[in-house]
Amino acid sequence: MDATVNAPLLEVRACRQSYHKDSSADLLVLEDVNVAIASGEIVGLLGRSGSGKSTLLRIVAGLLTPTAGEVQWRGARVTGPTQGVAMVFQSFALFPWLTVQENVELGLEAQGVARAERDKRAEEAIDLIGLGGYESAYPKELSGGMRQRVGLARALVVHPDLLLMDEPFSALDVLTAETLRTDLIDLWSDRKLPIKSILMVTHNIEEAVLMCDRILVFSSNPGRVANELRVPFPHPRNRHDPAFRQFVDDIYAIMTRRAPAAPKTAAAAMPAVDATFATPMQPVSTNLLAGLLETLAGHPYQGRADLPALAAALQLEADELLPMGEALQLLGFGVLEEGDLKLTDGGREFAHADTDGRKALFAAALRAHVPLVAAIRRTLDERWNHRASAVRFRDELEDHMSPDYADDTLRTAISWGRYAELYSYDEEAAQFSLEDVETAA
Ligand code: ADP
Ligand code: MG
Repeated sequence: MDATVNAPLLEVRACRQSYHKDSSADLLVLEDVNVAIASGEIVGLLGRSGSGKSTLLRIVAGLLTPTAGEVQWRGARVTGPTQGVAMVFQSFALFPWLTVQENVELGLEAQGVARAERDKRAEEAIDLIGLGGYESAYPKELSGGMRQRVGLARALVVHPDLLLMDEPFSALDVLTAETLRTDLIDLWSDRKLPIKSILMVTHNIEEAVLMCDRILVFSSNPGRVANELRVPFPHPRNRHDPAFRQFVDDIYAIMTRRAPAAPKTAAAAMPAVDATFATPMQPVSTNLLAGLLETLAGHPYQGRADLPALAAALQLEADELLPMGEALQLLGFGVLEEGDLKLTDGGREFAHADTDGRKALFAAALRAHVPLVAAIRRTLDERWNHRASAVRFRDELEDHMSPDYADDTLRTAISWGRYAELYSYDEEAAQFSLEDVETAA
C-alpha cells in the first residue's frame, strides 16, 4: 500500500507566532501549536476572540510564515500560499464590480486555467452551492447568505483538498447561517464537495458540534490547543438530542474552566506587558449587561445559571452569551466556571440598585478592573482643558493588538465609560472630555 495514504494531509508542528511591536514587548499569539488534519475529516477550531484562530488559519494557508515551527503539506514544508488549500472568509471578500460568475472564476484565473474550462468549473460550483441563475448578478444585488455562497463557490471552484473557513457564518443572521450550515453538511455527507477535508474556525460551540468530526479547543494568551474532542454523532445531527446537549455543555465547561497557572514558557519569561493596553475587549452593550445581571439575580437562577440554558432562555446564540459572561467577569460582577455563570456580591448589588446606583457601581468597577478606562479618565483629570483625542489611545492599543481588536476595544471603552458617566465622547471630533460629567471629589 502507498505509504502516503494514512499520512495527514496537513501538519502544523510546534508553531509559534508573535507579532513584532516596536514600542513594547512582542505580542505572543500562538505557542507550540500542533495540529494534524487527515483526509476525510472536518476539524473545528474553537476558541475565544483573540486566541489566535485566524492567525493559525493564515499560517496553514501559507499566507503567514510562523515565527517558529513549520507547516507540512502532504509531507513537504510550506513556504508560501499552498495550492490545494482554499479559504473562505467571514466577510465574504467579494469584488463588488465583478459578477457572481467572475468572482467565482477569479481563483481559476490565478491558476492559469483556460477560459472554457474556467466557465465550466465556475458554473458547476455555482450550481452546486445553490446559486444557479445568479451567474450575472452583482454582489450588491445579493443577500448576505447568497454572498457567502459566492465566497464558498469561489473557494470550491479550485477543487482544493483542504477548505479553510474562518467563521464563515458569523456575519449572517441566525436562520441564514443555519440554512447554509445544513446545506454544506448535506453536500459533504453526500460527497458532492470537490474537497477532502475542512478546517473551520468558529467561536460558536453548537456550530462546531453540529459540523465537525473533531474539535480543537484553543486556550488564549498565548493560543495553544488545550483540548481535543472527537464528536461521536453521525450526520444528520440533532441539536435537541440529550447527548448532543450534553456534549455542548461539556465544551462550555472546558471553555470556562479557570486557566491553570501559566506554565514556565518563553511567554512567562517575556517582559511584562502594560496591562492598560494589552487586554482586548469585545463590545457588549451596557443594556445587555444590566439585563443579564437582572436575569441572573432573579428567579429561577438565584445567582447561578447554566450557560446553554441561560442562552436558550434569553434567546441568545451561545456565542453571544460567552462574551457577555466574560465582560461581567472582567468587571467583577460575575464568574464563569465549569459552564456556569455565577453572580458575585458586586453583581448582585448592581442588579438591585436604581439607575444612579448602577452607574456609580459600574464606574467603580471600571476604575478598578478596566485599566484602559481608568487611564482615559486619569488623562482627562490631568489635562488643563480636560480633553483628549481618541487617536492617541487607539495608537497605543494598536501596539498591542490588531487594528480590528483595537477598534473594538476602544469602542467598548467609549460606551462603557459614557454609561458610567466617567467621561463624555464627541464622535465627530473623536475626542474624550469631562463635559457634562460630575467631577467634584
Ligand atoms: P482570533 O481569530 O482567535 O480572534 P486573531 O488570530 O485574529 O484571533 O488574533 C490573535 C491576537 O493577535 C489578537 O490579540 C490580535 O489583536 C493579534 N493580532 C492579530 N493580527 C495582528 C497583526 N497583524 N498585528 C498585531 N497583532 C495582531
Ligand atoms: Mg478570527
